[in-house]
Amino acid sequence: TFSPELTFNDGNTIPQLGYGVWQVEDDVAEKVVVQAFEAGFRHIDTAKIYGNEAGVGRAIERSGLKPEEIFITTKLWNADQGYESTLKAFEESMERLGLETLDLYLIHWMQPQQDKYVDTWKALIELQKQGRVKTIGVSNFTKEGLQRLIDETGVVPAINQVELHPFFNQADLREFNASKGILTQAWSPLGQGGELLESPVIAQIAAKHGATPAQVVIAWHLAIGNVVIPKSVTESRIRENYAALDVTLDETDVQAINGLDRSAEGAGRIGPDPAVSD
Ligand code: NAD
Repeated sequence: TFSPELTFNDGNTIPQLGYGVWQVEDDVAEKVVVQAFEAGFRHIDTAKIYGNEAGVGRAIERSGLKPEEIFITTKLWNADQGYESTLKAFEESMERLGLETLDLYLIHWMQPQQDKYVDTWKALIELQKQGRVKTIGVSNFTKEGLQRLIDETGVVPAINQVELHPFFNQADLREFNASKGILTQAWSPLGQGGELLESPVIAQIAAKHGATPAQVVIAWHLAIGNVVIPKSVTESRIRENYAALDVTLDETDVQAINGLDRSAEGAGRIGPDPAVSD
């Protein structure tokens, strides 16, 4: 089984299921990304701040997979925002990854207090024009931030990677993204593996499908149209997460999982709020 592909507003495509490597040390990243490729993953999500772009690069080399067979994302860190500094940081990331062309480059956080994200976005537009990166997007952007990029540059981000899991399902932002032709990508899609995977609602659906809780949550992301990048450094779980592609939820399952959202009670979010995070 290979992951389904979703099509960006620039015509390129992305494997809907990918593998994320936040909080994975560089040498471990090399090992687990090789395992992820062996399990079937072809889409890897890293970032400069994760400190493991070089490990991901070594895994790519070891895998023997060709650039056109894989999809690699990295992200511009907050301290590098600004036009010239973005161009420089991009080249440094590419050096570490050992790649000629990147599939997807993201602004990691909007950082409204810095207020440099429009100039940063202009640098990403330039990198795409030069053919250094195929697709450009953002992470942790609000509706207001996205609208400002569109208004000031006319270039709509291809994707917005945000915190998104059943306890914080981002219905409003997903609808806005879709209305602008922006794909939604879910980070911490398993809620970082805590209480969510113990949920009785998830357990019941898992039993019904002969699947695990993590597989049910991943299948929910796939069913609602998210790009999803679960993380694990345990080989059996890497395989288990990839096999979520074989789990198909029905509408009742999806509705039940939608009902787990806690944002109406002002809860559910694990990470920082992009509107105020510095
Ligand atoms: P996640 O929701 O993917 O949860 C990962 C944790 O869940 C694991 O460490 C493990 O404890 C548990 N887990 C994984 N598979 C399991 C299984 N099959 N059974 C039981 N438990 C399992 O959390 P994450 O790492 O925060 O998010 C995934 C990826 O999203 C990151 O690696 C990174 O690539 C990306 N991310 C991006 C941002 C951003 O700001 N753009 C922020 C956080 C994460």
